[in-house]
Amino acid sequence: MAKTPMMEQYLKIKAEHKDAFLFFRLGDFYEMFFDDAIHAARELEITLTKRDGGKEDSVPMCGVPYHSASNYIKNLIDKGYKVAICEQVEDPKAAKGVVKREVVQLVTPGTVMETNMLEERDHNYIASLSHFHDGSYVIVYNDLSIGESSVALISGGWDAVLHELYNQPIKEMVISSELPETCQQALYEKLNITVSFQDEITFKAEYRPLCENLNDERLVQAFSRLLNYIQNTQKRSLDHLQPANVIELDYYLSLDMYSKRNLELTETIMKKGKHGSLLWVLDHSVTAMGSRMLKKWLDRPLLKQQEIEERFDVVEGFLHGFMDRDALREALKSVYDLERLAGRVAYGNVNARDLIQLKQSLEKIPELKTILNQFDQVKINELSRDLSYPEYLVSLLVSSLHDDPPVSITEGSIIKDGYHEKLDKYREASRNGKQWIAELEQKERQETGIKSLKVGFNRVFGYYIEVTKANLHLLPEDRYERKQTLTNAERYITPELKEKEQLILEAEEKSVDLEYQLFLEIRDQVKERIPEIQYLAEVVSQIDVLQGFAVVSEANQYTRPHFSQDKLFIKNGRHPVVERVMKDDAFVPNDIVLDQETDILLITGPNMSGKSTYMRQLALTVIMGQIGCFVPCEEARLQLFDQIFTRIGAADDLVSGQSTFMVEMLEANHALANATENSLILLDEIGRGTSTYDGMALAQAIVEQIHNHIHAKTVFSTHYHELTTLENSLDKLKNIHVRAEEYEGKVVFLHQIKDGAADQSYGIHVAKLAGLPSSLIDRAGSILEQLEKSDQSRPEEAGQLSFFAEEKSPVKETKAPSGQSDNKLINDLKNINLFEMTPMDAMNELYRLQKQAKA
Ligand code: ADP
Ligand code: MG
Repeated sequence: MAKTPMMEQYLKIKAEHKDAFLFFRLGDFYEMFFDDAIHAARELEITLTKRDGGKEDSVPMCGVPYHSASNYIKNLIDKGYKVAICEQVEDPKAAKGVVKREVVQLVTPGTVMETNMLEERDHNYIASLSHFHDGSYVIVYNDLSIGESSVALISGGWDAVLHELYNQPIKEMVISSELPETCQQALYEKLNITVSFQDEITFKAEYRPLCENLNDERLVQAFSRLLNYIQNTQKRSLDHLQPANVIELDYYLSLDMYSKRNLELTETIMKKGKHGSLLWVLDHSVTAMGSRMLKKWLDRPLLKQQEIEERFDVVEGFLHGFMDRDALREALKSVYDLERLAGRVAYGNVNARDLIQLKQSLEKIPELKTILNQFDQVKINELSRDLSYPEYLVSLLVSSLHDDPPVSITEGSIIKDGYHEKLDKYREASRNGKQWIAELEQKERQETGIKSLKVGFNRVFGYYIEVTKANLHLLPEDRYERKQTLTNAERYITPELKEKEQLILEAEEKSVDLEYQLFLEIRDQVKERIPEIQYLAEVVSQIDVLQGFAVVSEANQYTRPHFSQDKLFIKNGRHPVVERVMKDDAFVPNDIVLDQETDILLITGPNMSGKSTYMRQLALTVIMGQIGCFVPCEEARLQLFDQIFTRIGAADDLVSGQSTFMVEMLEANHALANATENSLILLDEIGRGTSTYDGMALAQAIVEQIHNHIHAKTVFSTHYHELTTLENSLDKLKNIHVRAEEYEGKVVFLHQIKDGAADQSYGIHVAKLAGLPSSLIDRAGSILEQLEKSDQSRPEEAGQLSFFAEEKSPVKETKAPSGQSDNKLINDLKNINLFEMTPMDAMNELYRLQKQAKA
């Protein structure tokens, strides 16, 4: 195939950027060819055309105009793609042969800096993952828009990596091509992250200052991988990055990924949006910085009581001083995104408008300090002290920059008069020249008697004197030199005018150049203060999150919890999200008690009665408490938990759907292997993914394991009523149930938690509520009745029977009159199908029957 030299150039460059769309600059367009073109035309909904590549080859092509390229780039980046921007790097006129072209930047989801491509209230992480021979992994998070990096060492194997990564706002992950294939797959399949490769991890001298907090060679290597990648793709220096911080994972409450997902901390399972999540309820931050910080806090609740109490103190102070809180919120509204402004200053892509926003934000600091000092709470007054007013910076910006500067930084009108002597001189020269020209116009009008004579200016001809054709007869011959003829007028110049013009233009050019130089100097001065700005941003974010906690605590009547390791007690607790989406205070509050006598609560109750809600409300209350927010109840004594594990039975796990029983068991194993006596475990109908006896046996064995060996606080919901007998054998297990009542043949959910086991499962009633045909419901009703009455079950029915075991043998049989109870006992005994039972089941059943017989 005969290729044009340009096509050859294209193919050569494309070969180096296989995983990106190559935006190939041709005149005023970025063009794409071949598969890129076909693919991009589809993604961007633009027309696919053809380019003649020679005789028989015609090449698929599509293109986007240079001036509107950023929208198209954003579109592709949002979809997780990368775009390589290939520019002409020599003047086409000067070029011999094909114009030289180079990729000047690789735009990727993790490296975008443009405000319109970033989510305002979320971080935009580019992360890297490295694995080491000792089985450890290192994750580096970096938000380029802020210049912030943090590094975490993971020693708990690949699983722990996935748990850590889950739900982080990672847009792109840089890995080694040697990371095992299954791990790579998990990244893009499970976590839906764009993956990039960087194998070379050379440490360069310029990385040294960025690594000053990294005390482990693995951390340095992992960070180098990311830095290498950023340098290769962004083709610019890294001096806008701040030294990396180490995240000590042990320092925070750890949430496994199932908890992060199932508890819907920052997004809902179904719609993947913030609406309906805990973040949605809690986020009353005024600034985007506050929202971002809250998300981080939700991801890493605290473990140290003292730190939590300090947050509570501040929230309490804000709660009581509501007048000052309003003033504070008002002041925060004028604070722009200091973190991202600082990031852009550092990165070198700020304009004067950004610096004005910075100035306006910093000018608010004294007011914030004053307001914070008005609160009757030392911890809030201390925050005021932490906000140090960068007076020097503010006065620099006030004295130097116009309040309403243009977007461009190269066309002047940025710097104030009086800021710089030389600039003032140039401006004066230009002003004087213009004054002279204005006077010239007056003088010429008078002398020629042409009232409409005017002096004008354009870029091509400079200053000129214009006389309309109608007035030409009034103009003395040779008064001026003719320059240009228009339809209605003639334009003239004079040597004097050109002389002044030269002066003016020179002064203006010099002044614009100088303004640009001065702007860069100011920017550099701001740059030196970045750590200060970042610290301010951090304190402002904290203040913002905590005032938001006060707002939400007031609106929803949350209370300040107390901590104690020997008793967890929540009085009239509510689910913070469910109560918000329900109308008219319909949410029924419930107590939760887990004390020294109780490690495990086993909840039974019909479907839809509120078991899952009750369990989640406990976990959410715990998390809210450990991030320093008040909690949704009347009174709370909470335990500080080190980890939370959540397992959902396969049938309830609507989202991953395909979640097999194997996965469910792997997940359960994860909890059992990692939980400590200070952990909280929620097991929601575990064991549903397999046959009854299997599921029940496993559920029981898991409960026993937790009870006898782990001692973690656990809430376990189940539809296996058989398990309620465990209360007899396990001291620290307590039965509770959700009350439901039957009223006129319908089940009424009261959503009230009571002690003891539930006595019915109301399955058929729930089916009725769900709208199953009434004929079917009637049929189910009569089958149930038969089953309950039948003295003997036919062997082939035994399997089915077991499903109804819960209806057939209410556990709280002890209260029944003894005659009836004996009949029932005999029936139960007859109905046991020994061939279907595991020895453990048989043992349990025998135990249960004996207990009934004794009663
Ligand atoms: P289960 O897990 O027992 O099947 P869920 O916890 O999923 O039940 O609750 C089912 C529905 O009942 C929830 O969607 C909610 O609307 C309602 N509900 C749950 N708990 C309460 C409560 N305490 N007060 C009011 N409504 C509740
Ligand atoms: Mg449930």
